[in-house]
Amino acid sequence: MTEGATSPDSGAGPRGAAAPGWAAAGGATAGGPAFRVGLGYDAHRFVPDRALVLGGVRLREHDGLLGHSDADVLVHALMDALLGAAGLEDIGHYFPDSDPAYAGADSMDLLEAVVTLVSDRGWRVANVDAVVVCEEPRIAPHRAAMRQRLAAALGVGIGAVGLRGTTTEGMGFTGRREGIAAQAVALLERAG
Ligand SMILES: [Zn+2]
Repeated sequence: MTEGATSPDSGAGPRGAAAPGWAAAGGATAGGPAFRVGLGYDAHRFVPDRALVLGGVRLREHDGLLGHSDADVLVHALMDALLGAAGLEDIGHYFPDSDPAYAGADSMDLLEAVVTLVSDRGWRVANVDAVVVCEEPRIAPHRAAMRQRLAAALGVGIGAVGLRGTTTEGMGFTGRREGIAAQAVALLERAG
């Protein structure tokens, strides 16, 4: 579960100097950078009585992930990567788990809202890449379906959505099958 609102962008530019038009509000402006990169990470624990949803694809009706929304750990990592790249707040800021409106929310709807936030600031998605870390389920059989759903939500071709699964060879919480972790990077390019 991603939590807490942070302020990734205080508006300070290179070397801490105020640089209007660069980082203020994370907007894409003429004279600013043409690209920005962001990183996201998330983890959720397994529970027996929830459906497992990953990358917008419902994989099974039991042994899913605990969370306020549908707990789509891959989509959450991706959302934080996009928000971070745009210099915005984290997903806990926009979709607080204290808000009943997001109970059981479809994370793909939240992802589309994030894409709108990012594009409102003058950015479009160049490409994303993500890793899902778990012993099971295997990601490979579902990879194409997940990439397709993510690409549609991001407004990019499927070739701009990298995705793979990995294990930690039995080590750590993912190795003990206690939950699933995901990491994502997103590259934004200035639109227009
Ligand atoms: Zn999450």
